[in-house]
Amino acid sequence: MSTLTQIVVYALALLIFAWVAFRAARMSRGQGYRFGRDVIVRCRDGHLFMTTWIPMVSFKAIRFGLVRVQYCPVGDHVAPVHLMRDEDLTPAERLAASRFHDNGVP
Ligand SMILES: [Zn+2]
Repeated sequence: MSTLTQIVVYALALLIFAWVAFRAARMSRGQGYRFGRDVIVRCRDGHLFMTTWIPMVSFKAIRFGLVRVQYCPVGDHVAPVHLMRDEDLTPAERLAASRFHDNGVP
């Protein structure tokens, strides 16, 4: 493959990746999910805590859409966690979650 062909292939791959990430984020937001810093997640054991969740970007977790495997600071374990919608949480649950933050790395 020539250098030009390689550049075109990489640019196309990047473009497709960006488009998929954009679509996934928009679709999830349409369902009431919020992304970014300090979003509330619930682990498999029911622990609520705050984490940073940026669609398609992750350095500390294995991801499967709205579920990912990461460290839970409440139970001190690694577990599948899933993103919570604000409207599905009671004020007490939000308060409980705000007491636990992970390290802020996506
Ligand atoms: Zn937990």
